[in-house]
Amino acid sequence: MNWRGIGLLVSASLFSCGPAGSSDEASSLPPDVLLISLDTLRADRLGCYGYERATSPKLDSLAAKGVRFHEVHAPSGNTKPSHMSLFTGLDPLAHDVRPVRLVATVRPALSEDVPTMPELLRGAGYQTASFTDRGGLPPSAGFGRGFDFQHAEWEELPQKIAVVKDYLATSNRKLPLFLFFHTYEPHAPYLPPRPHRGKFTDPDHQGGFRKRYAELTGTPMAEFWREKGKFLREWPEMSETDVEFLSGLYDEEISWTDQNVGRLLRVWNKHRDRENTILIVLSDHGEAFNEHGRLGHQRSMYAELMRVPLLMSGPGLPEGLVVEEAVSLTGVLPTLLELLGLASTETQVGSFLSSVRGEREAGLPIYSQMGNRGEDLFESVTVDNLRLLRTTLKGEIRYELFDWSEDGEELQDLSSLRPEDVSRLSALLDERKSAADQLRERFPPGREAAQTEAELREIEGLGYGGNDD
Ligand SMILES: [Zn+2]
Repeated sequence: MNWRGIGLLVSASLFSCGPAGSSDEASSLPPDVLLISLDTLRADRLGCYGYERATSPKLDSLAAKGVRFHEVHAPSGNTKPSHMSLFTGLDPLAHDVRPVRLVATVRPALSEDVPTMPELLRGAGYQTASFTDRGGLPPSAGFGRGFDFQHAEWEELPQKIAVVKDYLATSNRKLPLFLFFHTYEPHAPYLPPRPHRGKFTDPDHQGGFRKRYAELTGTPMAEFWREKGKFLREWPEMSETDVEFLSGLYDEEISWTDQNVGRLLRVWNKHRDRENTILIVLSDHGEAFNEHGRLGHQRSMYAELMRVPLLMSGPGLPEGLVVEEAVSLTGVLPTLLELLGLASTETQVGSFLSSVRGEREAGLPIYSQMGNRGEDLFESVTVDNLRLLRTTLKGEIRYELFDWSEDGEELQDLSSLRPEDVSRLSALLDERKSAADQLRERFPPGREAAQTEAELREIEGLGYGGNDD
């Protein structure tokens, strides 16, 4: 293990540099931060998380060069709240930036009084740039705050990386850079180019998915986006082999995404100092393949949706370390601030560098939330290996309890056998909800601007129309 010590101290005074181009100059700068969010990527589909298919050679090698967090919980099962928790260190119910809904009448935006990751880094002297596929990350909800440069376009990965390349060529090498890269890959409808296409799927499979897939691959781009969301919605029947086929397509999409992570890093290495870069790769939520009777990632919070990858490497982090303790993406912001030696902000989850150092307090609860206050709501808390799901639908509350030490796939509901555990964990959910109420009173959410026609089409295209969360 190459341990370079945690707690790198950085101050604004380090930003004053020596002569341009000197190597001392580069090393005296605070580290750059490259944050890559690969939307809808399940942890268990990556080689470094134990998957048997070769979906992720690039991500696997990144895992070996830094810290891999083995059990990472998404704050929510939806792009928008999950990313806002990543940016603020607050639970979804506290920041109140809700799932994308086409028909929602009230769409809260982040409170002006809650600082975001890019704002904090810009305040510390960083250049800040954002490259997203927009969709669930509308700038008007608060995702645009703190960025000097924003590129929000729905486009193919190589195209987006080309824009990053142009930006990096003009970035100031005398200032540290925070770059946020988000892509809607491997989100449905899983249509990677060759040679990834066909890598893990049965060429002889002739079910409904195959037919639909063939139709989509032939559609022009504009029509393709409109059809995208229907991919997982409009299926009359679903056989086991159809689900296998779909799941194989998803793996092919991961393989394509992995290749592009490599491409992005090559571009980065050309223009920035990789040795002095904190690299963070993660996903906002997973994807279901009928494990609990659903496809995609809507209206449930089972393990297939909530376990995501998190890889971190760079100055202050050891190489080849696997952290087994569970963490939440809500803790990424405080962790990054600690790594950079920057003042912490008010967050609901602490930095998990203590886990990297092997000093973490055991049994800290981990929370996830999805839905709307007062309406349908999905909540979960995990303590050690026990996970309680509390689902409120039309006023009815349902509990499910799973023991991950024996049942990581969440197939055996233990709630009726262990009522004391249900009460104990449910009380934690109540406390957390009260904490969110108090935070919202202190930091009242704003209101997101009306969606444009183009944004509405994108949201519909992603499959989030109607009343779905
Ligand atoms: Zn997402």
